[in-house]
Amino acid sequence: MLNTLVIKYAAPCNLNCSYCYEYNHGDDTWKSKPKKISLDVIEEIAKKTRNYLASKKSLIFNIVAHGGEPLLLTPKYLQETYEIFQSYLKNFNVNYSMQTNATLINKEYCEIFKKYNIRLGISLDGDKGANEFRVDHKGNNTFERAVKGISILKNNNCMKNISGILSVINPNSNPKDVLDTFIETEIKMVDFLLPFLTHDSLDSTLRDNIKSRTYDWLNVIYNLWINNKKYHSLKIRIFEDALQSTLTLKPKTDWFSQKSLNYLVIESDGKIDLLDHLKVIGEKSSLFRSTDLNIKENELGTVIKISEEFINKLKIYEIPDDCKGCKWESICGGGYAPHRFSNANDFNNKSFYCDINFSLLENANIYINQNKKFLKQFLS
Ligand code: SF4
Repeated sequence: MLNTLVIKYAAPCNLNCSYCYEYNHGDDTWKSKPKKISLDVIEEIAKKTRNYLASKKSLIFNIVAHGGEPLLLTPKYLQETYEIFQSYLKNFNVNYSMQTNATLINKEYCEIFKKYNIRLGISLDGDKGANEFRVDHKGNNTFERAVKGISILKNNNCMKNISGILSVINPNSNPKDVLDTFIETEIKMVDFLLPFLTHDSLDSTLRDNIKSRTYDWLNVIYNLWINNKKYHSLKIRIFEDALQSTLTLKPKTDWFSQKSLNYLVIESDGKIDLLDHLKVIGEKSSLFRSTDLNIKENELGTVIKISEEFINKLKIYEIPDDCKGCKWESICGGGYAPHRFSNANDFNNKSFYCDINFSLLENANIYINQNKKFLKQFLS
């Protein structure tokens, strides 16, 4: 069921991370979009969300400010967007969150985060070395600027607004230094993302090299995390999702294959986009995610119905042939959609990171079997 809107507050970004699927994988749709979302589009989103939630009173709904970088909007303008949402949605269960690179945070933004209880996901890949791909438009590493943003949050009593770090794995980095950096920043949750690759990215030698080094890197992180009390204050989503999915026998997130569409992306011109992360595929991705729908003209109920039909036709959520009979088929489901893509078979491939998914679920299973007694209390 639709429970999340990801809204492109700003089409551009003040950074230019070399791996970014928005700008550096061949899809240039952002260039034709308004640089910032208009207040008219925000009002249409708020109205249509109110209409959608009117028949689903108990639904917990998420409104995510995304980009580009949402903090390219001035504090005054940002505040106006939340005032509009509040005026339409104050009687519903709506959570506000934002994905930001943290480099533009200042005191004024902190007041807005607190006032509207906005939860922040911060993009950071670890220590300075690990952030070698998180660069500005001149190619400078942005680690210090992001850490400064986190300290501004700390000094303005906003640490409770941080929901976690979104961190793209850099297999060149030292896993221990990455974990130590997150512990030092006092962040409580990190969501590691596998490098954005499909079966056709780069040349096959380079691709396979990244994959095998990512596999080793994650194994080191897992062992550090499991065996050192020092790291137990840090929730690591990829491992916790694997544990929870294995424990409940249901995929918890789209990290393992998603089964239905629960979110929509709204571009800065109001156009509805599906599965934003498919931009990893490049130019061809518009075939799999672009719709002719616009929030200005369509109600969310209609949009989700048409979008689901569209996605089902593309068979994005079907188990790939290669995965049928795999021990972890029902949980992994073939893996995250972009990692399954190839020009030859579209999404009918097992994940490029199949070995990693398999190992995550195996490790989770071993852990569960070793700690059955302890875990039973969470199930009873
Ligand atoms: S672990 Fe590999 S083979 Fe098994 S379902 Fe996942 S991607 Fe497919």
